[in-house]
Amino acid sequence: MRFDDYGQSDNIRNRRGEGGRPQMGGGGAMLLVCLARFVMGRFGIGGLVVLGGGFFLLSSMGINPLTLGSAPVSSGPYDTKYDRLVGATLKSTEEVFAQIFEENGLGTYPEPILNFFSGGVQTQGCGFADSAIGPFYCPADRQIYIDTVFFDQLAERFGAPGDFAQAYVVAHEVGHHVQTVTGVSDRIRAMQARATTEAEKNSYLVRLELMADCLAGVWAGRTAIPLDRGDVEEALAAARAVGDDTIQRRAKGRVVPDSFTHGTSEQRANWFSTGYRSRDMRACDTVNTQQL
Ligand SMILES: [Zn+2]
Repeated sequence: MRFDDYGQSDNIRNRRGEGGRPQMGGGGAMLLVCLARFVMGRFGIGGLVVLGGGFFLLSSMGINPLTLGSAPVSSGPYDTKYDRLVGATLKSTEEVFAQIFEENGLGTYPEPILNFFSGGVQTQGCGFADSAIGPFYCPADRQIYIDTVFFDQLAERFGAPGDFAQAYVVAHEVGHHVQTVTGVSDRIRAMQARATTEAEKNSYLVRLELMADCLAGVWAGRTAIPLDRGDVEEALAAARAVGDDTIQRRAKGRVVPDSFTHGTSEQRANWFSTGYRSRDMRACDTVNTQQL
């Protein structure tokens, strides 16, 4: 992907090194959407003790940790390897979805803010989030949050390197933003709330995620950033790498389909392809589709 001369989005906030802390008593019920469910419980009870200790330490130093997260937007260190790629990708998504909104009579596309953070972040609407969760979108504040260290993990641990693999990750989160501002997320979550079994509830999450993959594909099919040979394959490899079956097999050695929340590797790659080939948001209706 040749993004060097493409320009940069104005909606990037660099909040690295801000050192957000979990709020005690608040922010517990976090409703956010992410790229995949990675390492659940990385911190466990031990982590809670450590974080609690940090809270105590700050309190005893006369600093109120609860106000740290509301500090003005800082300008943390830049990550030269990834920042320009993310900035160019976000700019391109703004152009593509502005055009799509216009074509479909959806009015003006409200551009999302994208925050870089490191380690952990105090979001405006979804409480505290640790970077172990991976890149995510917070529907409550309509912002994207990315710790770019994830791109190293995607390449090294998940075997999906390349700039277009990283662009897919950004576009997937933008896909969640599109679902939110068009009201599709709310409709899917209302259906999910009426579901009676855990498996059925999860199936709605899968539809939400596969739609985000498809919207990422629509962006990839329409971006004005010149692509290189092999770029689309990089994105497909990344979509496969974050499939529930692949992640579960790696983590536990077995696969439990009823617990899937994001879709299989094959489904994710297929929906990305559907969006890419059609270049049409209407092709991404994963809700009224029998066969995912
Ligand atoms: Zn997602």
